[in-house]
Amino acid sequence: MKKDLFQIPDGVIYMDGNSLGPLPKSVPTRLSQTVHDEWGAMLIKGWNDAGWMDMPTRLGDRIGAMLGCANGSVVLGDTLSIKVYQALAAALNLNPDRRVVLSDNGNFPSDLYMAQGLLNTLNRGHELRVVDPDKVLEHITSDVAVLMLTHIDYRSGRMHDMLALTKAAQDLGVVVIWDLAHSAGAVPVDMGASGAEFAVGCTYKYLNGGPGAPAFIYVRPDLIDRIDPSLSGWLGHDAPFAFELGYRPAGGIDRMRVGTPPILQMAALDAALDVWDGVSMDELRSNSIALSERFISGVEQHCPTLTLASPRDPQLRGSQVSFQCENGYAVMQALIHHGVVGDFRAPDLIRFGFTPLYLDSGDIDQAVDILARIMRDNLWQDAKFQTRSAVT
Ligand SMILES: *Cc1c(COP(=O)(O)O)cnc(C)c1O
Repeated sequence: MKKDLFQIPDGVIYMDGNSLGPLPKSVPTRLSQTVHDEWGAMLIKGWNDAGWMDMPTRLGDRIGAMLGCANGSVVLGDTLSIKVYQALAAALNLNPDRRVVLSDNGNFPSDLYMAQGLLNTLNRGHELRVVDPDKVLEHITSDVAVLMLTHIDYRSGRMHDMLALTKAAQDLGVVVIWDLAHSAGAVPVDMGASGAEFAVGCTYKYLNGGPGAPAFIYVRPDLIDRIDPSLSGWLGHDAPFAFELGYRPAGGIDRMRVGTPPILQMAALDAALDVWDGVSMDELRSNSIALSERFISGVEQHCPTLTLASPRDPQLRGSQVSFQCENGYAVMQALIHHGVVGDFRAPDLIRFGFTPLYLDSGDIDQAVDILARIMRDNLWQDAKFQTRSAVT
């Protein structure tokens, strides 16, 4: 749809945009402007004159518009793990008499780790209840304070039914947090229609904001002024430059800010978001389904030893597909060596992201051919594909 807007190395079929989006060509120019014309020329005046201080909410509105969030309900900052912590702390405060946080074992570990850390710090007898993804609905009971789920499973791409689970939870007074890490920029999302209280997500995956790009947090507009921020940093204060000794939260979504925003990352993200101008999420979604269906049928036809580990029904998965693969690490290394970049997730999954902005059906056919050759000729057995790097 927009391949010419991205810088993708020659000979590479990039199927890992679900982990780190590629570089939009508009980003280097924008970064250079921010560095030279703003930081270099304006120095500290950039905070006012270049609008740096408003970037977290301005970009929050840009991302919010893609996700059905009202203006003024999304702010950028920190990393997703931090935003999970903030959302969970705020959600628990909205349900102070209950002691259970419900999540599932398909969640990304960092979300569960952050929850464990927060509950330990609170030391008020909370329990983190982690169940199978398909058992979540039946575990939504009236002792649950917060339902905290990642919408799309980072490994299999399995997608939760956001509307149904949110409704079931809210009928029993459970506060809901959705992690949209693998949803934002991948599938249509309408937070307003879902009615959920909180959402969080990152911007370096399908939104192509670059390594370390800031995360976002959404709070349902009617709740924002009731939130008592757990991470009460000065830029979430009502008057940061009054330097009062006591904390008073800012009005509105600004209270979910913590400290100094990463301006260079935000400038990169701002330029990266231009790619989305004029993109219909419904069209993107149908293209993504067409690509993933084509890939699955090609792989099943040509690689009989691989087993689909994602839901077969495309309506039940997001924009990535995984296969169970013995020696998956080495197979993925061989694939990358031959120009098809996906990734490996322990213990035995090879994972591929489908990003119609810069992948087309020709790329998919080529990727299938290369994978088929690696499997048929056992190219993965080469010693150089066996050594694991720190990041898989
Ligand atoms: C990618 C991802 C993260 C990563 O968190 P960071 O703090 O940005 O490193 C967390 N949660 C989920 C669900 C993810 O997919």
